[in-house]
Amino acid sequence: MHAEIITTGTELLLGEIVDTNAAYLAKQLAAIGLNLYYQTTVGDNEERIAAVVRSAMQRSDVVIITGGLGPTVDDVTRQAVARATDRELVLDARLLAQIRCFFEKRGQLMGKNNQQQAYLPKGAITIENPVGTAPAFIVETESTSIVTLPGVPYEMRYLTETRVLPYLRHKLGLTGVIKSKVLHTCSIGESRVDQLIGDLMRQSNPTVGLAAHPGQTDVRITAKANDETTVDRLIAHSEAELRARLGDYIYGADHQTLEEVIVRLLREHGKTIALAETNLGIVTQRLGNVSGSPEVIKGTTLSSSTTSLLERMGLQIGPERTIQEYDTAVASVVAAATREVHGADYGLAVLTPEGHDSDIAYGASLALVGPNIEIQKAVTFSIHTPSTIKWVGNTALDMLRRALLSLPQL
Ligand code: ATP
Ligand code: MG
Repeated sequence: MHAEIITTGTELLLGEIVDTNAAYLAKQLAAIGLNLYYQTTVGDNEERIAAVVRSAMQRSDVVIITGGLGPTVDDVTRQAVARATDRELVLDARLLAQIRCFFEKRGQLMGKNNQQQAYLPKGAITIENPVGTAPAFIVETESTSIVTLPGVPYEMRYLTETRVLPYLRHKLGLTGVIKSKVLHTCSIGESRVDQLIGDLMRQSNPTVGLAAHPGQTDVRITAKANDETTVDRLIAHSEAELRARLGDYIYGADHQTLEEVIVRLLREHGKTIALAETNLGIVTQRLGNVSGSPEVIKGTTLSSSTTSLLERMGLQIGPERTIQEYDTAVASVVAAATREVHGADYGLAVLTPEGHDSDIAYGASLALVGPNIEIQKAVTFSIHTPSTIKWVGNTALDMLRRALLSLPQL
């Protein structure tokens, strides 16, 4: 059995809104064990929606459409589904009464265009909408169930959970479960991960896939079975194998972020940190956003450039010595000083060049000073893009994670 999702709305195509409906529905379909093979977005155009629905009917058992059920002229999904299934639109008197009642309850008169919403493709199963005016409906053809839902995310979710999922489970006799788990790695590139686990990525259940992000590679395990216990067992088995191969490159799983892991480790180990950074203060920002971080961050110093940071901290390098770009010795002096000034267990310095012009070389000098540890590292990139900042942050945070876990530094 497989499904596909069609989201309608020109604003989605223009990038004005993010398609959260598709993401939500994809998860719900997976949870009931329905494979999702296609996902399409189409503008508010009757002909194009009808064409997309026709293609979907040829290849999928279930098609779920969202949006365009409202009363305005650009809401054409009702007509498009009727056209794709060669049915006429007929008035559903009960629906009309319900819509009228919805307005009366609010002391309003039902507009003429709202009457449009009581017209459904002939033979459709009505899904009443107690949380809005746009009724939803299902058209069953010989091959396909076409479920049409309103675009408003709240209404769409409500109807999916209360009506559509029970309908699909019953109709398709579904008992299967699909679940995923994501392992997050850092300080290791995608190609290296690929080398280490390539053979596992060719297996079919669970499937193992990679997603590369700046400074981080995610490994997703997805398993499918008839019951949750078997799915969990399949995932646990693959996870153990992946952990054996990727070892301490894995910093966390699912919703965990690197900064959350670090704040938790600092708290668990009863340790504190002081930060000194230039420019955006990427590490300060990321750690600062984690709840509970004020307990472990003893102090932060932020300045626009290395020179002004040194001035603020009353530090002098020289005069016989000038500061080089990506000067890790300077970072080390800054890290040691911030640690001492704030009486923290660790001092971390992240020094990046002033200005953020793209397309020029960029990098950072990093240093971590702590109990029995002094690490320096330079990170450089041939061009500067928004993702290089993320790389710098992840590299600095991973130095700290490795220090806290007594792991070798890379
Ligand atoms: P209405 O009765 O409000 O017109 P509708 O069923 O016609 O409902 P749309 O007009 O397509 O739905 O969308 C209504 C609103 O719902 C959009 O303006 C948008 O804010 C939101 N919306 C629609 N589709 C999506 C989507 N795929 N993801 C997230 N939000 C969406
Ligand atoms: Mg609308």
